[in-house]
Amino acid sequence: MKDAFATAKQIVMRLPELMANFLKNSIIGFFFEAKSFSDAFIYTKYWAFIWGNIFKFIIRLLFKRGPIVLVRELFFRYPWILKFLSATKLLRRLTRGRKGAYLESTALVIHAIAVLLVEKLEEVFYQPKRLLISEDLVPPEIAMAMGLNVWLVEGMGILLPFLDSEACLEFIDEAENAGMNPDSCSFVKSAVGMVIKNQQPKGVAIVSSNMPCDAGMTSYSYIQQQLDAPPIYRVDVPYHFYNERAEKLFVEDLKGMIAFLEKHTPGRMDWAKLKEICEKRNYMMELELELWDMMRTSPAPLASESIWLSHLLLFYWFPGNPVSIRHYERLVELAKKNLDAKIGAVENEKYRAVLWNPPFPQFPDIFNIVERAHGITLILDSMTFNRHDPIDTSTPETMLSGLAKIIMQGPMVRHTRGPAENYLDDIFRCYKQFDLDMVWIANHVGCKSGQAMNGILREKCREMKIPLLILDYDLLDPRIVSHEGMLSQVDAFMENVMKERSKGK
Ligand code: SF4
Repeated sequence: MKDAFATAKQIVMRLPELMANFLKNSIIGFFFEAKSFSDAFIYTKYWAFIWGNIFKFIIRLLFKRGPIVLVRELFFRYPWILKFLSATKLLRRLTRGRKGAYLESTALVIHAIAVLLVEKLEEVFYQPKRLLISEDLVPPEIAMAMGLNVWLVEGMGILLPFLDSEACLEFIDEAENAGMNPDSCSFVKSAVGMVIKNQQPKGVAIVSSNMPCDAGMTSYSYIQQQLDAPPIYRVDVPYHFYNERAEKLFVEDLKGMIAFLEKHTPGRMDWAKLKEICEKRNYMMELELELWDMMRTSPAPLASESIWLSHLLLFYWFPGNPVSIRHYERLVELAKKNLDAKIGAVENEKYRAVLWNPPFPQFPDIFNIVERAHGITLILDSMTFNRHDPIDTSTPETMLSGLAKIIMQGPMVRHTRGPAENYLDDIFRCYKQFDLDMVWIANHVGCKSGQAMNGILREKCREMKIPLLILDYDLLDPRIVSHEGMLSQVDAFMENVMKERSKGK
């Protein structure tokens, strides 16, 4: 009784704070902040679309599988799905201070995540016999052409912390309790922890690789064991891969993967389907290149999540999907709209930045905050930037060769193997191509290969007089460096290197 009274008292005392938080993070808060009626309309439209998708998923599951299965799946088997109920909170966080086409482009990405994730979860629930468990760096085009549905083991490790920065902590701790080194990468630990807790779907087979690093590669032996040992195929990217011999070797490896999938899954290779997927992927790439061309203008017509989050989700998990294509078409339209009206995405663009290494999943808000505090516009990131050609779809051999290059030259693949130039040259190429003012390194403390490059990069940047911010943090674990700690590193850099003071966040 005494405890209940104390709790009630505490809640009442926290009411003003809870209220302020609610207003800050809800649609009502946006209405107070909206810069125009049309911004309020854009926000409301996407807010309603996102909720509509969530309800559609729940209602369909309820009718198809009944209430008992619904409760079992959402509360016990995959409790992390409930985190997606805060998708509109993410919308609110990332759109703060944005307006017009830029506001819409950000809302569009979060909406695309909602639509495509529902599609993916429905594949998990309703077609388990066609589910292939795949590592995130093995692109899904081939499996998709074989009629298989691809589930990326690491997918939730990236997406969940966007919604709740502490979402992966229980999985990281679980992996450490099972014996994984606390110093190792939280990205890998999170995937392993989710498997140990039996919160990842089980597929008919697994496809993994020797990418991007030893930690990622070795984790799959354990993941396979925990998923009841389905058959596994590991593609093997050669150490030196920018040559014809490596390409031929890897094409043979992909053929081996297709034979493996035909043997162990109901999937059958359909070359016409692969051609269609590759052509659609090429079209997405064309649209993205058009977008990049516009991004070279200063001020940039769009920025940040509309560029990096779109690529991260749509190219790696949903290439050629109609939603992905429409998404890129719409981004190009929005960028053109701003460009024609000479409107910059960031109201007061003062600095143009590139981010190297995977962006900050547990604190994506940082880009929004620094654009308002310092006028820093995030133009591009290493997961998005690439230089490969479109896939030649004339024969099965040319398609495999095109896909082989995309896989071997993928980010975190070309950047974590081979000579140091693989990592460094792209940074400087990007810096020049997009007329940038600074380079940011997302210095994930668990990533040993990334850490090893910092010294050389520092020297090179000093030589070339490129302002460099090496921002220490952990990819998925905010306990290592707090959000305040991350922001103060930016402030210190802006003050000491760029000689500017923060205008407040
Ligand atoms: S972030 Fe670094 S350590 Fe972690 S999986 Fe990627 S390459 Fe490996």
